[in-house]
Amino acid sequence: GSTIGIIGGGQLGRMLAIAAAQLGYRSHIYSPEPSGPAADVAPRWTQGAYDDREALKAFAADIDVATYEFENVDADPLETLAALVPLHPPLNALRIAQDRVAEKTFAHEQGAITANWAIVDSREDLDVAMASVGTPAILKTTRFGYDGKGQARIISREDADTAYEAIGRSPAILEAMVAFDHEFSVIVARGQDGISTVWDVPENVHVDGILATSAIPPHADVLAQLDEAKAIATRIADALDYVGVMAVEFFASADGPVFNEMAPRVHNSGHWTIEGAVASQFENHIRAVCGLPLGDTALVAPHVVMRNLIGEDASRWPELFAQTGAHVHLYGKHEASPGRKMGHVTRLSINNNG
Ligand code: ATP
Ligand code: MG
Ligand code: MG
Repeated sequence: GSTIGIIGGGQLGRMLAIAAAQLGYRSHIYSPEPSGPAADVAPRWTQGAYDDREALKAFAADIDVATYEFENVDADPLETLAALVPLHPPLNALRIAQDRVAEKTFAHEQGAITANWAIVDSREDLDVAMASVGTPAILKTTRFGYDGKGQARIISREDADTAYEAIGRSPAILEAMVAFDHEFSVIVARGQDGISTVWDVPENVHVDGILATSAIPPHADVLAQLDEAKAIATRIADALDYVGVMAVEFFASADGPVFNEMAPRVHNSGHWTIEGAVASQFENHIRAVCGLPLGDTALVAPHVVMRNLIGEDASRWPELFAQTGAHVHLYGKHEASPGRKMGHVTRLSINNNG
């Protein structure tokens, strides 16, 4: 098809729309917001609620294929869309990835190890969960968390009340705190022909629950676990009959790669692929969604570092532009607020001095 419908109009939608335009496709965004980062680059924008089936029907009439850039949208109303146009990735992937209970259960079925966890649907459950999972642990809402939102750490049992109130008494899971040296993510692209490919794997550093940097190559402990993690991520994509780009986050622990979570979409830890790989995650997502063969995921430089520009980093932008090697990406967001992703910067280097 020639028009790609994208559910969600944030920076991921923006970068998808840029990749789509380069390949000759038009993008039509569907978002509850009147505007957003994707509006500058997508020729069409429909404002509609994610659960407005009538508006989704009208949207379907204007597009040839649909995808999503945001996983915190209820999957059920999107069935209306999927009945009218091909929707990639499949809704089943969205359903699993947006529910931490379904996600961890599924990952386990695919042979991944996860942190010990237990369901917490009430304050009483939390006591039972602390007894089985132990402390320290993290209480996470089952659905709709991102950038560390909807999470509370429980260092010892005395933190339980505060943590439970902090997540708003929502359905949640308690996860054991994993002792890890480094975090990494495997980004997989899978085409409509079932052929999948993975990019090189970055080491991800989070600050306050938000991704700060993704760097290649990762530390040696991550390198030692890559083959296993890539195999798990590929198995997950195959089991879901996935089409598009998917990210799987892992902790490199002494017991091997521990599955953290997966995102059924392009991912912040893959932004480095725009300049750092032959084909970016955005290009390959568009290729997959449109039924084209995937592009080459090979690295183009041995050292790549992507740094997010978060909230108040705005003051640093003039000096970033003064650095000739920096690929600066700004998302066109007008208002900075703490923790808000405003842009990112990628550097490639031959030596490790970038
Ligand atoms: P995202 O924006 O990646 O979707 P999220 O809100 O879904 O974030 P998680 O990925 O679950 O959050 O957690 C954010 C970060 O908190 C992780 O990348 C990791 O650094 C830390 N973290 C989460 N769970 C655990 C755990 N069980 N043990 C140790 N650290 C953890
Ligand atoms: Mg998440
Ligand atoms: Mg995460």
